Amino acid sequence: MDPKALHTISYGLYVVSAKTGARLNGQVANTVFQISSAPPTVAVSINKQNLTHEFIQSSRNFAVSVLAKDAPLALIGRFGFKSGREVDKFAGLNYKLTRAGLPYLAEHTLAYLEAEVNQTVDAGTHSIFIGTLKDAAVLRQGDPMTYAYYHQVKRGTTPKTAPTFAAAEAEAGTSVTAPRYRCTICNFIYDPAQGDPEHDIAPGTPFEDLPDEWTCPICGAGKEAFEKI
Ligand code: FE
Repeated sequence: MDPKALHTISYGLYVVSAKTGARLNGQVANTVFQISSAPPTVAVSINKQNLTHEFIQSSRNFAVSVLAKDAPLALIGRFGFKSGREVDKFAGLNYKLTRAGLPYLAEHTLAYLEAEVNQTVDAGTHSIFIGTLKDAAVLRQGDPMTYAYYHQVKRGTTPKTAPTFAAAEAEAGTSVTAPRYRCTICNFIYDPAQGDPEHDIAPGTPFEDLPDEWTCPICGAGKEAFEKI
């Protein structure tokens, strides 16, 4: 059996959110899908250890923000690599509320959904929450973020064979041997050939030349969290 076969499955990228009382929380998930259309029914798969799981279980509803392809790494990192037990992930963000008062992102989002849970399936480490659509709107036109795009381009793991890699390297005039560094927290790869556009770091900047205060564009970890690969 080759588990790499699983890597050929395509997904989108979403922020799944919920609330308990006045507390709001959300997390990144790639497993949001429409189950049926009459009535419109959607499902999400959420890790049982996550705060969002706890919130959905108690409130019996959830919202989904469909991320746009231009969603910044920091936004994805905020919802993907930080726990709602430690930070209020929606604080300071431009968000709005669904019909039932669940938060959804008003920026970098193509559409939102709100569903009322009518079935929970125990899937071991995860629960699959199945819910009927209660509220939804398209916020703007555009391309959705896909899981593959996030991993290959946004996360810095662009394959060496990709056209974008050769172009960035030619532009930067860097050597193919310039070392790349991996964030040990979130696995973001700093590639000198690409620099870090989100922090205005020009292509061709070696890791060693990054300012001391530079942080991982995804999870916010400092340079010390990086290892050479
Ligand atoms: Fe990181």
